[in-house]
Amino acid sequence: MTVTREVGEVSDVDGEILEDITIPAGQPWGRKLEAGQRLRIIDLEGKQAVDFLCYDAAAPQDRYNAANTMKMGANIFLREGSVLWSDRGNRLMTVVIDTCGYHDTIGGCCSEEMNRIRYNEAGPGNCRDTFELALKPFGLTRDDIATNVNWFMYVPVGKDGTMAIVDGISKPGDYVDLRAERDVICVASNCTQIFNPANGFEPTPVRIITYAPRL
Ligand SMILES: [Zn+2]
Repeated sequence: MTVTREVGEVSDVDGEILEDITIPAGQPWGRKLEAGQRLRIIDLEGKQAVDFLCYDAAAPQDRYNAANTMKMGANIFLREGSVLWSDRGNRLMTVVIDTCGYHDTIGGCCSEEMNRIRYNEAGPGNCRDTFELALKPFGLTRDDIATNVNWFMYVPVGKDGTMAIVDGISKPGDYVDLRAERDVICVASNCTQIFNPANGFEPTPVRIITYAPRL
């Protein structure tokens, strides 16, 4: 699908736009990318967590693996140059541009069950249910949800091992560009969490552009 719309300064992409879509908080997104194609995720208003997973399109059982990604990157944060590794040690995607500097690998996604345990409330939707909707068109289910990336969410770890979701540090218009290293299925949930600072207590829309870079 090609969508024609005005492209702002921060989101000019060098290539053919395949899809340009704004995702309200609480909504799913998914798309298959061919090797070499790119994905730009723009945090339009800042401090908005975007839960994200990717899978080898040819063998979706081989999916994003948070532990492998942290080990290979020797860091818990994702930033420019970080590779998203799979269960079987394949490179799925690479962060080629990042204007934020800190993206979470350890916090996972929100769910109704954890909202009830942590906050005694079901919540206004949750990323686990939204992931399920995003995965369905690809023949994948809730059981295919792994520990995910949280773009623009900040989860620092102290020297004593303490960790917490704290205020995001992304500014309005911050974005991350990912290059598919093989044919991949990508899914995202634009988080609606309001009980912790994942979204600055006010979930907002994000914009996702898929493009084929100029060679
Ligand atoms: Zn969430």
